[in-house]
Amino acid sequence: MHPKELVTSTFRQRFGKEPAFVALAPGRVNILGEHVDFNDGFVLPAAIDRATYIAFAPANSERSTLVAADFGEQASFTLASIPTKTNADGAPLAEWAYYPAGVAWALTEADLEVRAIDAVFASNVPQGSGLSSSASIEMAFAVAWQTLSAVEGSAVEGSAVDGAGWVLPPMQRALLGQKAENKYVGVNCGIMDQFASACGVSDKLLLLDCRSLEWQTLPVPEDVAIVIADTSVRRKLTDGEYNKRRQACEDAVKILSQHLPNVRALRDVSVDDFNRLSNQLPGVVEKRARHVVEEIERSRRAIPLLEQGKIREFGQIMNECHTSLRDLYEVSIPELNVMVEIAQSLPGCHGARLTGAGFGGCTANLVEKSVAEAFAAELARQYEAKTGLKPEIYICKASDGARLV
Ligand code: ADP
Ligand code: MG
Repeated sequence: MHPKELVTSTFRQRFGKEPAFVALAPGRVNILGEHVDFNDGFVLPAAIDRATYIAFAPANSERSTLVAADFGEQASFTLASIPTKTNADGAPLAEWAYYPAGVAWALTEADLEVRAIDAVFASNVPQGSGLSSSASIEMAFAVAWQTLSAVEGSAVEGSAVDGAGWVLPPMQRALLGQKAENKYVGVNCGIMDQFASACGVSDKLLLLDCRSLEWQTLPVPEDVAIVIADTSVRRKLTDGEYNKRRQACEDAVKILSQHLPNVRALRDVSVDDFNRLSNQLPGVVEKRARHVVEEIERSRRAIPLLEQGKIREFGQIMNECHTSLRDLYEVSIPELNVMVEIAQSLPGCHGARLTGAGFGGCTANLVEKSVAEAFAAELARQYEAKTGLKPEIYICKASDGARLV
C-alpha cells in the first residue's frame, strides 16, 4: 500500500475520525559535495519522490499520540514528558519517536506553540541507507505542527488560540530539525538533509553554501533521470570512523592556518595552496583533507556545467568524486565500488558515485531517461551476479519539499 493511503486508513482505524490534514516530506539524494558540509563547503542534493507521509489532527487532550504505521507501534507524550525522553506514562520513548519528539522539543525551545497532535506516519524512504529517512520524519512533523498552530479553536481548555499560528520559512524549519537531531536524538549531522527535505524544488538540484546557508536551484536536464541504487548493505557502527575524519579535517585546518592566516575551514584553502603546503600534513590527514579541498573545487567547476546543460562533463566530475571517496577519504566498501563500476560501464550512464556517508547504503547515478529502465535492470542483474546481494533500484525525480498534500 502507498504510504499516503496507509496513513489515512490507519488514522481512521486508530482514532475513529477523519484526519484533518495529510502532509509529506521527501527524502533526499546528494549528487555532489560529499563530506564537505562540516568544512563549510557546497552540497548539491535533490529532494526525491519518496517521502514520509503524515495524517494528523489536533488531539482532544494535552497528550500527543503518534503511530508509526510501518512498525505498528505507538508513542504518547506530553510537553512535560518530552525532555526526559519518556511517554506520558513514564515508559521510555521508542527510538523512532525521538525524531518527532525532538522536533517538538526544538520548537518549544524556540518559543513556538506545539499543539497536542493525533498522528499516523509512514514512509517509502528506505531507512538507514543514506536517503535521509530521519530528516523526512522531522520535516513532516514540522509542517504538521506549523499547520496545527493556525487551526481555529483548541482542544486543550484554557489555551489562547487566535487562529493566526506561527509560520517558519522552510530553511528555519530545517535548522530546527537539525537541532532536534543534534541535541535531542544525539546524531551529529550537518544541515544538508533537513535543508533538502524542507526546500526541495521539482526538477531541480539544490546548491547550498553550507557556510552562509544561501542556496539556489540548478536545472536537471529534461532527458536525465536520477537513479538511486541501494547496495542493500546497511552501514554498521561507523560513528568512530566519521569522527576520525572530522578530526583529521580539523587537524589540517590547524596546521594550514599557521601558514595561511585567513583559513577558518578547509573551504578557505585553494587547491594550489594545498598542493604547496601538503607536505606539512601527516599522511592520513593529507589524504582526508585533499578529498575535501578537491571536492569543494569540483563543486565550483560543476556549477557552470549544470547551468550550461553539459551533463556528460558533470557526470565525469561525479565519477571523480567517487574515486576520491574511495581512495582518499576511504569511506567506500567493495559493494559500493562494484555498483559504481558496473554503472559506469553501462550505456546512457553519465556519472555514478556512492552517495551519503558511505560504508554501505546507496549510489547516485545520472542516466539518460530513455534508457533508465534498461539501465536499472542491467545494473541489478550484474550486481547480484557479482555480489550475491539483491539491490533495490529507484528511478527518481527531483521533487518539491515538505508540504501539505
Ligand atoms: P537515514 O540515512 O535513513 O536518515 P538514520 O539512521 O538517520 O538513517 O535514521 C533512521 C531512523 O529513523 C530509523 O532507525 C528509525 O528510528 C527512524 N525511521 C526512519 N523511517 C521510519 C519509519 N518509516 N517509521 C518509523 N521510524 C522511522
Ligand atoms: Mg538520517
